[in-house]
Amino acid sequence: MIHLKTPEEIDVIARGGAIIADFLVEVRPRIRPGVSTLELDGFADEFIRAHAGAVPAFKGLYGFPGSVCTSLNEEVVHGIPSAKRVLREGDVISVDVGVKVNGWCADSAWTFRVGEVSSEVHRLLDVTERSLWAAIEASISGNHVGDIGAAVMRTVDGTSFGIIKDLVGHGVGRDVHEEPQVPNHGRAGHGPLLREGMVLAIEPMCNLGSKDVKTLDDGWTVKTVDGRPSAHYEHTVAVTENGADVLT
Ligand code: MG
Ligand code: MG
Repeated sequence: MIHLKTPEEIDVIARGGAIIADFLVEVRPRIRPGVSTLELDGFADEFIRAHAGAVPAFKGLYGFPGSVCTSLNEEVVHGIPSAKRVLREGDVISVDVGVKVNGWCADSAWTFRVGEVSSEVHRLLDVTERSLWAAIEASISGNHVGDIGAAVMRTVDGTSFGIIKDLVGHGVGRDVHEEPQVPNHGRAGHGPLLREGMVLAIEPMCNLGSKDVKTLDDGWTVKTVDGRPSAHYEHTVAVTENGADVLT
C-alpha cells in the first residue's frame, strides 16, 4: 500500500532531508586519500545526532552496523564502514545516508571522486547524476512510476554503462523502505500513478561495465560481478502537481 503524506508530514521529512544535504556538503572535504570509511561513518553519526531529534536511520536497520553505507569502487551499495577500507587517489565512493526525525525518514546518496579519477569513471558519475535529475523531472503527479525509469534509461542510452535492475528506489516515510518500488528502468505511462503526497527515494545506479551485481558473504555489500566501478545518486522527493520537490 502506498502511503500519501500530508504537507505537515512532508515538512518533517524535509527537516531530515536538510540534515542530509548539509552532511553531504560537510563530508566532501573529508573524502580524501588516507581516510577510512569507518572515519566517515563516525563523522556522519556525530553530525546527524548533533541535530535535536535526529538519528541515523540506517543504524540497526535490518541489523546494518553502520550509520551510513560506504561503497567503494566496484561496491554498488550497502558497503559496511570499516577501518580497513582506506580511500586512495582515483577511487570513487558512494555515501548513502538516512536520517530519521520525529519518526519520519529521508534517504539520499552521492558518489564522490577521491582526487582525480579516470575520464571514463568521471563520465560514469556525470551520466548517472544526470539520470537522477532527469528522473526527478519526470516525478510529476499524473505521470507513472514507469516514467521515472524511462527517464533514467533515456539519459544513459547511447553509453555502454549498465543500469542496475536488481536494486530499486522506493517510497519513504515512517519506514525507510515503503511502496512503491521505483525501478531505474521502465516504460513511460506504466506502473503506479504518481500522486501528490507521494514521497519517493529515486536512486539510479549505473556500472561502468555489466549491469550484473552480487551480494558478498558479509550479507550486505553489493558489488559488480565484473569488478568494474559503479555510481549511485539518490534524492528523496515529494511529488507535487508542479513537479518534484527535492527534500534532501
Ligand atoms: Mg539510500
Ligand atoms: Mg534508498
